[in-house]
Amino acid sequence: MADKSLTVVLKADAALKEKLRAFYADDFCDKVPQYAAFQAKVDDCTVTLYDSGKLMFQGKRAEEESSIWSSLGAGEAPAKKKQEKTTKVSGAGKSGADGFSDTTAVGSDEVGTGDFFGPIVVTAAYVRKEQFSFLCELGVRDSKKLTDEKIMRIAPQIMEQIPHVTRVLSNPEYNEMRAREINMNQIKALLHNECLFRLLRDQKVEPITVVVDQFEPPAAYYKHIAGEANKVEDICFMTKAEDKCLAVACGSIISRYTFLIEMKKLGEAYGILEEIPFGAGVGVDAFGAELVREHGEEILTKVAKMNFANVEKVRQLL
Ligand code: MG
Repeated sequence: MADKSLTVVLKADAALKEKLRAFYADDFCDKVPQYAAFQAKVDDCTVTLYDSGKLMFQGKRAEEESSIWSSLGAGEAPAKKKQEKTTKVSGAGKSGADGFSDTTAVGSDEVGTGDFFGPIVVTAAYVRKEQFSFLCELGVRDSKKLTDEKIMRIAPQIMEQIPHVTRVLSNPEYNEMRAREINMNQIKALLHNECLFRLLRDQKVEPITVVVDQFEPPAAYYKHIAGEANKVEDICFMTKAEDKCLAVACGSIISRYTFLIEMKKLGEAYGILEEIPFGAGVGVDAFGAELVREHGEEILTKVAKMNFANVEKVRQLL
């Protein structure tokens, strides 16, 4: 088969760097090449921004993806939206209030995969049509578009009304899986599958649209869960599903809420007085160095994701 892979290189100034960071934030990879500010994977294209401003697109869609940016002056916003691929749309329904699909559905979403500290949390939620107005009135949308204060306020109300299953993968569990060379996408696939399976089983839901916020191609997802005894198949994968499916949006809010609570518990369990920082930026490294000074490096295996580049950065600060 002919290799359709190609590379396009552009130059980014400071203003464009900011925009790129915001635009690709959802798709960041946890490992970045040396001298890179970030690397992101979008459908069939890897985007790498280097500290020097070199902006590289690689893969089948390199040309298309780079064209979003190549025609822009520094002050402009992206002219084109990222291509959004929906792999399987049967039963996905038409658009209802706030642009959400108006179909009863089970949906799942995860948080914590880009945070050096804290667990990974996945939640599957079951939202029926009759509950749409209640959820829209509460202001339910993708958790990344809501403040943590708002999430703390509305999540308990959602959790009371909406059947859901949440799975928290602790840092020791995560580190143990990574040590067995189970990669991040496989971990996510296994957790999504587990939550979806338990929810469908417990709620005795009839055949229904099952939506997963797409983080890898469907074939890779199914390969990752192939060895599981209990599998949920026939999934409708959507990119940006938190914006299109209320069940996924609820999954994302409940996951974020649980993540915030778990971060508090982690702090309490290890006598960490300050708030543990989110993300994987420089503040996280400094905080990690403080922790290690106080408790020894062992603490990181209990509260952090040991395969992140931050571990090395923390060591350099010591
Ligand atoms: Mg997601």
